Amino acid sequence: MNKSTTLITLLSAWLGAHAYAEPAEIVFQNSQTTGSYDGWFSLLIWALVCLVCVVVSIRVIIRQKSALDKTINELKGLEDGLQEAQSIAQMGSWSRDFEHGTTFWSKEARTVLGLGDDQEEFKHYETLLHPDDIEGMMEAVATAYHQGGGYIHEHRIISPYDKKERWIRLAGKVFLGEEESPVRETGTVQDVSLRRAAELALRQSEEKLRSILEAAPYPIMIFDISSAPSLLYANQSTYYLFELDQEAVDLSDIDLHSLWVEDDGHAQFTDSFSEGGVTNFEVLMKTQKGKVFWGMLSSTAMDFQGKPALFVSVLDITDRKLIQEELERLATTDTLTGLLNRRSIFETANKEIRRAIRYQYPFTIIMLDIDHFKRVNDTYGHATGDKVIQLFAEVCLTCLREEDALGRVGGEEFVAVLVSSTLEGGRIVAERMREAWEATEVEVPGGMDRFTVSIGVSELGAKNESFDMVLERADKALYVSKSEGRNCVTIDVGEEPQTN
Ligand code: GH3
Ligand code: MG
Ligand code: MG
Repeated sequence: MNKSTTLITLLSAWLGAHAYAEPAEIVFQNSQTTGSYDGWFSLLIWALVCLVCVVVSIRVIIRQKSALDKTINELKGLEDGLQEAQSIAQMGSWSRDFEHGTTFWSKEARTVLGLGDDQEEFKHYETLLHPDDIEGMMEAVATAYHQGGGYIHEHRIISPYDKKERWIRLAGKVFLGEEESPVRETGTVQDVSLRRAAELALRQSEEKLRSILEAAPYPIMIFDISSAPSLLYANQSTYYLFELDQEAVDLSDIDLHSLWVEDDGHAQFTDSFSEGGVTNFEVLMKTQKGKVFWGMLSSTAMDFQGKPALFVSVLDITDRKLIQEELERLATTDTLTGLLNRRSIFETANKEIRRAIRYQYPFTIIMLDIDHFKRVNDTYGHATGDKVIQLFAEVCLTCLREEDALGRVGGEEFVAVLVSSTLEGGRIVAERMREAWEATEVEVPGGMDRFTVSIGVSELGAKNESFDMVLERADKALYVSKSEGRNCVTIDVGEEPQTN
């Protein structure tokens, strides 16, 4: 009770006491007052008090009215705010009172449901439901209606106003009364048509993508890379390539480490994720049955089923690799002898001479030319000539170390590159070759024959020459061997080569 009300109450009490306690003292007679002074005074006081009471009451009423107005304005503001929030969120609210049979739909809820102004009294949400979604909706709310509590369901409605189909997310909560029957229900409605359409479009495009991937003639795998990589999808060709049993194998059970031959294969592959994938990455891979093949991987990072994923295509390039290796072999090999060909032995020599200069190793080459080879052809025929060349190559190889290289640089001319060998070391090897060849008996038409070879040896000088210069000196030394009567070794020692 506030101050004004207390005052009024006290005054009224006092007034009542005086007014009714001595009523006999106030008498009116023939327009003359015969009452006591006290009686008039009380009356005056009573009138004054009444006036004060009226004024105070009016003030109280005015104050309360303005407080009420303020509260109403605040409530209106809150309601506007709520309305605005619902409009921004495109989410309306609703409530139902089962006891009084009333239903409230917020303005936004009406907009969401596409209700017109003429559906002011709209009560039965069920009537809006798409026929195909009635059953699902009933199932979704059944438990809440029996046990109380919330539910969320997405379904289609058809608005009676604009006849448009909308996807609605209806969330509600049912409150039960004392007799365990629903008394109140409240919730929200939200138009999720755009999200549904986007999801549908995404699903359709993923389905389209899947059917394209399925039909792809080469293996395609999709890895989930949101955490430790796991296989999300593999097309038919992948099953075939990796010898997977489509019926028995669950993709998530495949140990991804088992796909690689090298121990660090998987690490290399996962490292490529951070770079957004790889292009034409050639690596040795394994099928689930252990068959090894060359795979060429290309990958692209993109989203799949809403997760960061890596699309990886794998081409089995084993055949291509073998052909490539064979082509490389053919390109570097002399077909008759199997030794390095001219280009290749010169490349090797150039590489080795650079290394020798850099690390200050000795470097020596031997040049060999079979003596009077023309006569071999002339005497025994070209085929026997070929056989002699082949045999000569084999004999020379037996005289060299593993790290040395031998190549055929002309018809019956050969060059040996001796890594880390001095001139003296080269001379010893050359002499060994000469002797071995001289001792080799070759089967020729009509019996056996033996042949000889002339050899020149030169070493990389202190001036860090090019290989061509060292070769030229070996060639000169070889020329000296020829002119000295053949079947001998000449070492290049500068101005005057020494023959033995
Ligand atoms: P020299 O002792 O001075 O080296 O005499 P040469 O007869 O060996 O010398 P030359 O270089 O004149 O002759 C080499 C011959 O080798 C000429 C060529 O017909 C023959 N020839 C070259 N390539 C092949 C080949 O691949 N197979 C055969 N059978 N003969 C070849
Ligand atoms: Mg020759
Ligand atoms: Mg010759």
